[in-house]
Amino acid sequence: MSHVVNITLSPKEAADENKQSQLVSKMLKIKESDIALIRIIKKSVDARHYPLKVNLSLEVYVDAEPLPEKITFEYPSVAYSKPVVIIGAGPAGLYAALRLIEFGLKPIIFERGKDIVERSKDIAQIHRNNSIDHNSNYAFGEGGAGTFSDGKLFTRSKKRGDYNRALQRLVFHGADEAILYEAHPHIGSDKLPRIIKSMREQIIRSGGEIHFSSRVTDIKTSNGHVSKIIANNTSIITDYVVLSTGHSARDVYQMLYEQKIALEAKAYAMGVRIEHPQELINKIQYHNSPDRDYLPAASYSLVEQINGRGVYSFCMCPGGFIVPALTSQEESVVNGMSPSHRGSPFANSGFVTEIREEDFAHLRKEYGILAGLELQKRLEYAARAEAPDHYKAPAQRVSDFVFGRVSSSLPASSFVPGLVESRLDKWMPQFIASRLREAIKVFDKRMHGYLTNEAIVVGVESRTSTPVRIPRNPETLEHIHIQGLYPAGEGAGYAGGIISAALDGERIAEAIFRKEEKRESLTPPIY
Ligand SMILES: Cc1cc2nc3c(=O)[nH]c(=O)nc-3n(C[C@H](O)[C@H](O)[C@H](O)COP(=O)(O)OP(=O)(O)OC[C@H]3O[C@@H](n4cnc5c(N)ncnc54)[C@H](O)[C@@H]3O)c2cc1C
Repeated sequence: MSHVVNITLSPKEAADENKQSQLVSKMLKIKESDIALIRIIKKSVDARHYPLKVNLSLEVYVDAEPLPEKITFEYPSVAYSKPVVIIGAGPAGLYAALRLIEFGLKPIIFERGKDIVERSKDIAQIHRNNSIDHNSNYAFGEGGAGTFSDGKLFTRSKKRGDYNRALQRLVFHGADEAILYEAHPHIGSDKLPRIIKSMREQIIRSGGEIHFSSRVTDIKTSNGHVSKIIANNTSIITDYVVLSTGHSARDVYQMLYEQKIALEAKAYAMGVRIEHPQELINKIQYHNSPDRDYLPAASYSLVEQINGRGVYSFCMCPGGFIVPALTSQEESVVNGMSPSHRGSPFANSGFVTEIREEDFAHLRKEYGILAGLELQKRLEYAARAEAPDHYKAPAQRVSDFVFGRVSSSLPASSFVPGLVESRLDKWMPQFIASRLREAIKVFDKRMHGYLTNEAIVVGVESRTSTPVRIPRNPETLEHIHIQGLYPAGEGAGYAGGIISAALDGERIAEAIFRKEEKRESLTPPIY
């Protein structure tokens, strides 16, 4: 039997393993030499008050007790099993594939983008202001939108699936075990690619398939059931299609719309990315604590109602970089990522407000259910018009944005392609700009110094969530009108973030297994 011990330490003490073992031996009244293993099961920094505290939950194994078992996943061979087509190799598609393998079904993935190595080269081209590949960029390619990200693994939708199993799967494929106990786990853009590659290798080893540079252009149905897909002008006949194409695949929404496949408009969010010096955020959040060396780069999470709408920080990247997340040259779209050490001198965050159907009602007549998408596009195009060359992005100092002034210069920034001074407060729709401006004033009261001309806002953060839902039958998770078609992940409107998309992918795999089980009486895997 192991013992669980909860302790609260200063950041310096928490970083000292000897200190932990001394305290544990005292609390459990055992000799330090009898302790076989101390394993952290929960860790959180409490920075609400000075002095700062670190809360630790430790699992202690004393000599002669069996040590915890290594995390493992059983992936059987599925080379000759029933195939399931998956469109898109993002977290939803990859997790669906791995779970299908566990159920003895064969995933066949079609991915419009390239594998990690080739994709990295295409991303480097955007940074060098050279070119953008419409199918291989920050949004498209192996691992999906989250591959070159901060890799935050927090989700509000833990109830929608087995959150711990989703994290353990990442550890099994190479992530650091710390993600299992950190209160706000993250992986980092330098480590994510290796994990994604390991998942791909597993899928192939088990007899599944992944086809890169394979954009799916059509989904055919017959008598209310999915019948085949078209990728690279080739038809693939199938009973099952997992549609996990993410929210940047506008051509997929257009294709479904033209085929009169039911879609729904939904609320979403848009705004800017805001970037401060990391040192400023550390000072504010850690109350100038001398323990800074023992603490991670500080983060924040802010939310407020302004004129009846939520305004909030989103996808905060401490010690990170603002990245050009556009999918075509007519748009300026920004997002954020951080390496695992979160060591850059900048702290960036999405800073967005809710967009409701009434905001795009005027576009409904012309664009139908895709009106929200059109509004999103227009904002991205307006941002590009301000910074037309070389994938640069329009930016303004934060105080200037709030008080409606021109920024005569811009401070240093993490955004590699470069910034162009611009009056974001003028060209953004006022219902967005005015709420963001008011919210910054409110947030400055909670984080003194947040409203400063040392910080910038960069345009635009428009892809936080999808403006379109692909509706599912809540029981079977199939499209409401098309059997065998399983809309999944963020693009379908059922997830927002890496882990929630992954969990949704797993749920879809389970739904397909249940359906196939009825048809073929398969045996469920035993754990
Ligand atoms: C820069 C950046 C940083 C982010 N940081 C975080 C973070 O730290 N934490 C977090 O939780 N979330 C983060 N996100 C969001 C997160 O990445 C997404 O929520 C998540 O990836 C959604 O997963 P998904 O599988 O549903 O879709 P996606 O990841 O978008 O994957 C969809 C895949 O489908 C492919 N595809 C699209 N159309 C087709 C087609 N027609 N044929 C074949 N393939 C197609 C795409 O190429 C893509 O690979 C970030 C996003 C970005 C862009």
